[in-house]
Amino acid sequence: MINGKARQICRKEGLLNFSAFPIKTRSKELDMIQTKVCTRCDREKPLGAFGKHGDGLRSRCRQCRSKIGAEYRAKNHRKILRGKLVYRESRREELCSKQKIYYQQHIKERAEYYAQWRHDNLIKVKINKRSYYLQHKEEALASSKVYKHSKKGREAAIADAHRRRLAGGHLSVDTIREVKAKSNGLCPYCNQPIVNGHIDHIIPVIKGGTNDKDNLLYVCSICNMRKGSKDLDEFLSTITLVLRRNKTL
Ligand SMILES: [Zn+2]
Ligand SMILES: [Zn+2]
Repeated sequence: MINGKARQICRKEGLLNFSAFPIKTRSKELDMIQTKVCTRCDREKPLGAFGKHGDGLRSRCRQCRSKIGAEYRAKNHRKILRGKLVYRESRREELCSKQKIYYQQHIKERAEYYAQWRHDNLIKVKINKRSYYLQHKEEALASSKVYKHSKKGREAAIADAHRRRLAGGHLSVDTIREVKAKSNGLCPYCNQPIVNGHIDHIIPVIKGGTNDKDNLLYVCSICNMRKGSKDLDEFLSTITLVLRRNKTL
């Protein structure tokens, strides 16, 4: 070994630290061949296992240093947090404006990222929405009342009625009867007996579905409300997700 002699001398002298080793003469190959003893774990390791420090190398190997860091962070968890808070507080305005700039520059990526996240976490989103609604039920009802009577809300209602008319007018009693008669009393989505039946648009009217009987199904009220304005694929994917989830529970 190239550095064998030097190492022997150092050992004799009780010097385990090779950090004086000139960095300029190092190379990846040499780092694998030449070794140095870590002052913490006392193990002889290739130079590549030590981080650079000034012109030389650290006296402790990377592994030991990361262990020391982790131990320190675990022991001083509160202190570090406090330090971070103090830092943030002292540069609040600067950090805020930086964040704002970042936000504005990445508005599209962020939107895409969250859309993807919502798509991947449909159940979580649903549960969150539901629990938020239950906690804020009165406010939600009040604000929807306000919305319905606002200019925007009235326009939306008119647009919705217009779409429904375009979809082929009102559902006729005959069509409803026909669709009902086709069902065997079981909801095609959840396979449960239909107690309270609804007529479901397979492709929702809002997405261009028609009132044609090919686009209609007789389903249970729970599935109909769960489906809302989702199209079939979207809804079925949430159902299979729920089924899969219940199986694992
Ligand atoms: Zn070590
Ligand atoms: Zn159902």
